Amino acid sequence: MTFDELGLAPEVLKAVAETGYTEPTPIQAQAIPHVLAGRDVLGIAQTGTGKTASFTLPMIDKLSRGRARARMPRSLILEPTRELAAQVAENFETYGKYNKLSMALLIGGVSFGDQEKKLDRGVDVLIATPGRLLDHCGRGKVLLTGVQILVIDEADRMLDMGFIPDIEEICKKLPFTRQTLFFSATMPPEIQRLTDTFLHNPERIEVARASSTGATIKQVLIKTTRDGKRDLLQKIIEDENVKNAIIFCNRKRDVSVLERALSKSGLSAGAIHGDLDQATRTRTLDGFRKGTIRLLVASDVAARGLDIPDVSHVFNFDVPTHAEDYVHRIGRTGRAGKSGTAYTLATREDGKYLAAIEKLIGNPIPDGESKLPKAEVAVEAVEAPEAETEGRQEPKRGRSRRGGRGRSAAKEEAVDAVTEAPAEKPVEKAEKPAEKTEAPRRHEAPKRDERSNRRGSERGHDRDDERVVGLGDHVPAFILRAVKLPKKTKDTDDEFEAESEDA
Ligand code: AMP
Repeated sequence: MTFDELGLAPEVLKAVAETGYTEPTPIQAQAIPHVLAGRDVLGIAQTGTGKTASFTLPMIDKLSRGRARARMPRSLILEPTRELAAQVAENFETYGKYNKLSMALLIGGVSFGDQEKKLDRGVDVLIATPGRLLDHCGRGKVLLTGVQILVIDEADRMLDMGFIPDIEEICKKLPFTRQTLFFSATMPPEIQRLTDTFLHNPERIEVARASSTGATIKQVLIKTTRDGKRDLLQKIIEDENVKNAIIFCNRKRDVSVLERALSKSGLSAGAIHGDLDQATRTRTLDGFRKGTIRLLVASDVAARGLDIPDVSHVFNFDVPTHAEDYVHRIGRTGRAGKSGTAYTLATREDGKYLAAIEKLIGNPIPDGESKLPKAEVAVEAVEAPEAETEGRQEPKRGRSRRGGRGRSAAKEEAVDAVTEAPAEKPVEKAEKPAEKTEAPRRHEAPKRDERSNRRGSERGHDRDDERVVGLGDHVPAFILRAVKLPKKTKDTDDEFEAESEDA
């Protein structure tokens, strides 16, 4: 099949041809005609399948007819992270070069002023992360009643990051009669519920199972010890033909520590995680894309879905605590038909996480070559003592009210997600009037729902990554466990519960 057969306008086809793509990917071939026909679409597809163009191409086509009004965007795309939002914006620029569409990107870390100027002029395409969009709505700077096409991308990741209440709030501000395109790599029950609510008789398109790992990726498991990991990593980098690599850590703090250690050893390394400001993140990613940075040490959220076509190696410096993250992480290599290698460094404590990964992918991860220094440790499917799992323990008090799934990885990611917007943090004393008005939503006492939604992120962040209370990394579980307090008012009880859930 060729792009010409999909019903796209000549301007769009010309832009596609210039990218060199000749054949639509399966999700593009299946979704584009339905989007052009105005149908709702439920796309079960992960990044790397070409799903971004499956909605950007027909959207450009449709939006090329009509004009935007001030502060009333004609379409809205919700993305979980700034990087993904920026990637979608790049897609619109590439494929929309022969159409005069205006676009605004509402993401954290970028000044409100510039974003508002664009909105004032009227935009055809608004690409946003949920928190920042709600901030703009709260300031009365954007009206969503003119949105004709809504895209919710990476819905399962939004769920993990606690964004679903925000999305529900945003959807209440949209017109009922609209076209909705909904993409998710997986369909847990909570996401299914959302699709039932948001989509009207959707065309369901499924292109690859979320648990599938690319055939072009060689997977290697190396058993080691926590102390031995860093040397092992360096040894593999020295011994193997590592052109470039993304090295995943579970915690932002560890991302920074590892990046510094690698740089100190004379290796070209950069770090990317949610606490870094947007300019630094963009600069580091550009450096990695261009090859001036060879090793990118990353957290899950910052690196998820990133489209870097030529990555020779992925390292799981930490075994991911959420099995699906394994698939997403290693999917950063072996892209576009190229081969890649994914190393996973596992310690004894990782047994249960490894078991979950292997169950998900349906195979054991092959053991590493014998020439590598292998520690004499067995990685067993035993539950690690809580205090040693570095914030990876499963929740003890049942699901949090925000309705996400397993909190362990989600919590770390939510940390990244909300800190995606440093500018959104409460400003104690605004020096300039402009800054003062930057984050009114954060100044307001949050509603109960918002509190539970953001709790995992803002507070979790403090607890996990910054506040070390005399015991270093080791905080015994009993200290973090909830205790019954005598007689509290309703409000303080809620607050207490919120705190203890974060533990
Ligand atoms: P995505 O799943 O949207 O993140 O896209 C993954 C990668 O596939 C990106 O580098 C796209 O530029 C690329 N891509 C998108 N459409 C096609 C196509 N029809 N043929 C080849 N590559 C494509």
